[in-house]
Amino acid sequence: MKLKIGCIPGDGIGPEIVKQAKAVLEKVAQVYGHEISYRHILLGGASIDVHGIPLTDEAIAEARAADAVLMGSIGGDTTKSPWYQLPPDRRPEAGLLQIRKALNLFANLRPAVLYPELADACPLRSEIRRDGFDLLIMRELTGGLYFGERKTVTENGVRRAVDTLTYSEEEIRRIAVKGFEIARKRRRKVTSVDKANVLDSSRLWRCVVEEVAKDYPDVALEHMLVDNCAMQIVRDPAQFDVILTENMFGDILSDEASMVTGSIGMLASASLNDTKFGLYEPSHGSAPDIAGKDIANPIATILSASMMLRYSFDLDQEADAIDRAVKAALEEGWRTADIMADGCRQTGCEQMGRIITKHIGGSMK
Ligand code: NAD
Repeated sequence: MKLKIGCIPGDGIGPEIVKQAKAVLEKVAQVYGHEISYRHILLGGASIDVHGIPLTDEAIAEARAADAVLMGSIGGDTTKSPWYQLPPDRRPEAGLLQIRKALNLFANLRPAVLYPELADACPLRSEIRRDGFDLLIMRELTGGLYFGERKTVTENGVRRAVDTLTYSEEEIRRIAVKGFEIARKRRRKVTSVDKANVLDSSRLWRCVVEEVAKDYPDVALEHMLVDNCAMQIVRDPAQFDVILTENMFGDILSDEASMVTGSIGMLASASLNDTKFGLYEPSHGSAPDIAGKDIANPIATILSASMMLRYSFDLDQEADAIDRAVKAALEEGWRTADIMADGCRQTGCEQMGRIITKHIGGSMK
């Protein structure tokens, strides 16, 4: 297969971690007989340094011309970098919001995986975390409370603020379809999270999700209220496969779920539109405090590349090979500084990439 990948190294540790993810992808291409071409795209601080703005029209066109985009992370030290002397709409993060909007990325996927090898990083007790867990939060990203009408008015000397939560059935249907499709590539269970005992938008959410579920009889569907879901994530995270939810609930639950894994350098993410296109990036930021020191953990970016193969190219076998290679490196005791534990072998960004790359060929045997 020919894979046209847009590549945004970005700022801080971005170029270091993307380099390792590309090395892993190259090895996958070699072992499984694919051809990858990259389009280099400037975003964030790297674009400001060259063009004076965080995202150009040319960069958007390059991203649109690719089948999928792999990104490192963008942004700098917000207290020291000259990028943050610019007006807010010219700062690095504005470029990220603009590209998400331009590419109509409405579905955000945040897996939260606890590997048994990293169990000590998990703040949950051993009888709760058991043998680890692997859940995925699918959050609607372009509707709901964050995009509804809002205003603050003063009436009779009293200030009143209003935010509006609206969802159309089309907005709910398209994310529900993504949720069920993705569940089919996993353990075939969707937990749809809402507040249907109170909110009309949640009642419509539940109704449309049930309509969509009829097309996926092989996927189990359950509904859960958001307050209960927040408790269940810390009570028994292994019960979940895909958690499907609206924008604000997903914002809160995905941060909660990533905290219970305990390792920021391990968390991948993806944002998808209604085609096969997606933007794949680690959940963490550009870590300017450790940039250029070869100590960053490249695993979140490598796992993002695995998600790209699975969800944009339907190359599940190849994605499985990457996931197995990461696990094999952890089983051998290799750790970057952020996940280092007693009795393990500490390594840097580059060497961690090399070790994982080496295991790609091994997994074919
Ligand atoms: P951060 O995620 O960059 O760093 C938080 C802490 O985690 C730091 O101590 C950092 O060293 C560590 N860390 C992060 N990733 C790591 C990795 N792969 N390996 C080892 N350690 C890692 O968050 P921050 O410090 O709040 O933000 C730094 C910059 O990143 C800011 O400019 C922020 O706006 C930007 N940011 C960008 C994105 C993105 O590109 N999507 C997301 C979040 C933050």
